[in-house]
Amino acid sequence: MSFALNRRTFLKSASGVLLGLAYLPGSARAGASNAGTVASSASWDDLARSLKGPLLHKDAPDYATIAAPWNLRFAATLPAGIARCVSPEDVRACLHWAQSNEVPLAIRSGGHSYAGFSTTSGLLLDVSLMNEVGDLDASGRVRLSGGARNANVYAALRPLGRAITHGRCKGVGVAGLVLGGGIGFSQRLQGLACDQLVETEIVIASGELLRCNEVDNADLFWACRGGGGGNFGVNTSLTFQTFPVAVVTVFRLVWRSGLDELLPAALALLPTTPDRLGCKLFVEAGKDEQLELVGQLVGTEGELTSLLAPLYRIATPNEQAVRALPYWDSQEFLSEEGPPEYSHERSRYVFRPVPPEGARTVLDFLRRWPTTHDGAQWKIFLAGGAVAAVPTDATAFVHRKALMLSTIDLSWTPEDDAAAVRANQVWLDEFHAAMQPFTSDESFQNFIDEAETNYLRAYYGANLQRLVEIKRKYDPDNLFRFTQSIPLSL
Ligand SMILES: Cc1cc2nc3c(=O)[nH]c(=O)nc-3n(C[C@H](O)[C@H](O)[C@H](O)COP(=O)(O)OP(=O)(O)OC[C@H]3O[C@@H](n4cnc5c(N)ncnc54)[C@H](O)[C@@H]3O)c2cc1C
Repeated sequence: MSFALNRRTFLKSASGVLLGLAYLPGSARAGASNAGTVASSASWDDLARSLKGPLLHKDAPDYATIAAPWNLRFAATLPAGIARCVSPEDVRACLHWAQSNEVPLAIRSGGHSYAGFSTTSGLLLDVSLMNEVGDLDASGRVRLSGGARNANVYAALRPLGRAITHGRCKGVGVAGLVLGGGIGFSQRLQGLACDQLVETEIVIASGELLRCNEVDNADLFWACRGGGGGNFGVNTSLTFQTFPVAVVTVFRLVWRSGLDELLPAALALLPTTPDRLGCKLFVEAGKDEQLELVGQLVGTEGELTSLLAPLYRIATPNEQAVRALPYWDSQEFLSEEGPPEYSHERSRYVFRPVPPEGARTVLDFLRRWPTTHDGAQWKIFLAGGAVAAVPTDATAFVHRKALMLSTIDLSWTPEDDAAAVRANQVWLDEFHAAMQPFTSDESFQNFIDEAETNYLRAYYGANLQRLVEIKRKYDPDNLFRFTQSIPLSL
């Protein structure tokens, strides 16, 4: 593979920028959003020649679709080029080129980073075309390429009657999901997605493709199980131990009244339920207030009814859909589209049962929501079980002993003016702060949050120091950096 651009060529093109003469593909001058991008058009051409996959610039017909992140708050940051990598060699060429040209880069698989950390004004290294799912081996393992999404997992594992822990939104990238731990309705019984990861291949800054598992590069493997996306290199394959699945009872129950009694009761009840139950609770803000419980039970409809009896005794749900279905049909029932939106979600892990005062605080804030043209919710994801059975230092995912993960989810539309969005952000931050006494300072690295001030501790806790050491070993020049990336030192 040839890398035509050297440091001298870079300096030449950099001085071109200083003189206002830099050429960006598809435009004669550098635009404001590309201020950090200094490569010349000739060097971009060199990159294009070194790739098997296409390199897109702003004039490409599909550029806008591929450049757009899930969180539209960050859609204004447009990459000067999008390398649609089709192999680890393409990834290696991009890393080499970006370093030689000092062009900032971001890795993207499913594009669902809450904080827009897979956007850049430089080179977007897009692995989403690398989405193959291999055959199941004799021990039930399956190898995914680094750009596979939940949708690819659904399609490939469904006919096999097997699964891994996965999310509900089909567009989410498996790489982003598993690198931050990976939660899903099966987690209490089967563990996190990262607990089922048995091997990953990763191209590191030096261009080496490393195989990581319990034996080879075991420290980097440890870091890839909860250390967060985009910190150490580009994961080009992910091999999972799958588990067999059969019929499960899925449910969606909605209550529109009695929330003052229902919410504390649900918060006390859910952590006591057996690990066969996986569920998520939402409380919707505003005048259409409602409490919704969604999830799956590896068990019968009758068992579900008796588990949830304390809630049914308070009030009969206004809507209920309960079905016993083969696992993958049940996942269609549970899946959500999750289209792109303007949103900000803030999370806190919960280690002790939320007291009634905590439930009152939730309802009080939701009833004072300043409103947007979209919505706001407080949610909890039930944790524990197999997640908690793994020691907190066995993988980089530190939040093992939590009972639940709580989040506040705020979304809006372009119809909401800047003042309205600001008022909502203030409300969100106050709500987040008010919940701290009932929750904790730990936050989920997959719900990455640019407003979290003590984010390294919040995401990685006692595992942070080791992650920093691994970062220094595998990415000594800090190529893989973004606003909340793991630093070279603390
Ligand atoms: C609608 C929605 C539903 C969600 N549901 C769940 C859920 O059920 N369970 C759960 O655990 N999380 C869930 N999440 C959170 C999700 O796991 C994270 O946002 C995750 O980081 C998204 O990964 P991605 O590949 O789609 O996003 P991207 O934006 O492409 O990537 C996220 C981060 O990982 C890095 N990255 C991406 N690909 C690679 C790679 N191949 N190698 C190295 N780094 C890479 C990126 O640079 C970025 O920093 C959900 C998010 C959304 C928006």
